[in-house]
Amino acid sequence: MKKITILIPAYNEQDVLYQLYNRLSTVINQLPRYRFELLFVNDGSKDETLNIIKSLRKQDNRVSYVDLSRNFGKEIAMIAGLDYALGDAVIILDADLQDPPELIPEMISYWEDGYDDIYAKRKSRAGESWLKKWTSRAFYRVLQKITRVPIQEDTGDFRLLDSRCVEALKQLRETQRYTKGMFSWIGYNKKEILFDRDPRAAGETKWNYIKLVDLAIEGITSFTTNPLRLSSIFGFTVSIFAFMYMIWVILKTIIMGEPVAGYPSLMTIILFLGGIQLISLGIIGEYLGRVFNETKGRPLYFVDEYNDEKALNKKQATEYYYSANRN
Ligand code: UDP
Ligand code: MG
Repeated sequence: MKKITILIPAYNEQDVLYQLYNRLSTVINQLPRYRFELLFVNDGSKDETLNIIKSLRKQDNRVSYVDLSRNFGKEIAMIAGLDYALGDAVIILDADLQDPPELIPEMISYWEDGYDDIYAKRKSRAGESWLKKWTSRAFYRVLQKITRVPIQEDTGDFRLLDSRCVEALKQLRETQRYTKGMFSWIGYNKKEILFDRDPRAAGETKWNYIKLVDLAIEGITSFTTNPLRLSSIFGFTVSIFAFMYMIWVILKTIIMGEPVAGYPSLMTIILFLGGIQLISLGIIGEYLGRVFNETKGRPLYFVDEYNDEKALNKKQATEYYYSANRN
């Protein structure tokens, strides 16, 4: 029998976990042809999340968990889950029931048809402000324009991945992760299914605009170096105009003299160019920062506990990192 891992990153989700478990087990109990593993990744929750997961594990041996040593963020929680998943396929699901588990049978049937990455695209996004919708839409547009990797709009991390995709993703060990782009980057046969995204069932969103801006910068800097080129192009264009203007100023002075004036124009040009220079420095800094972080070569996360056992930090990510980088 094939085994399917349902990977659920959870950070302070005590209010929804039972509800999630009930809905999820109803769905998977109707699929007796598969074995399931419900793999929770506790991302350093400060509430009762871990205890609830442990109690679920006592009553249902399909439940297993990885407890990270602190809060690492959803992107890292996901790669930790992929490292520990035992299934022939992995389904990534948010804990807050915004990704309806009822889509799982459809995903599995496409998987049986031979697709490797079946992702769920949102038709609607209930419970999200128009500002969040608008900014997310604008961001996708921009990202799409400047990268060559096609990134699916209105698609989250809710998807079924064949073990081929999982193995591929496990080899991408960069510390600053933009997983959504990685799904596209690895390729393989993709299939889109549509769904209506519900509002969060309970608890609070961990997102805020600062995180969103962070993720946006992550998304751009991890998939393209075009912004670096942009500053070169801009610098070049400005220089050409500056040169022509210089010739014009010299000729004008020779022919008509110069009754000094022009403080406002000088001021604007200096401020404008100063701004451009700072932006270009910032862009270079973003990439330099990434290089700095990657060269440290740290493991992506540490595990505190795996299925009732204190993890010995040997068997883990560290080892994986080096084995992935050996060849
Ligand atoms: N999450 C996580 N670590 C974090 C933040 C979030 O594992 O630091 C998990 C969270 O428990 C949930 C999923 O990521 O399962 C999505 O988070 P959330 O619902 O807050 O984001 P939104 O749906 O608002 O984008
Ligand atoms: Mg959510």
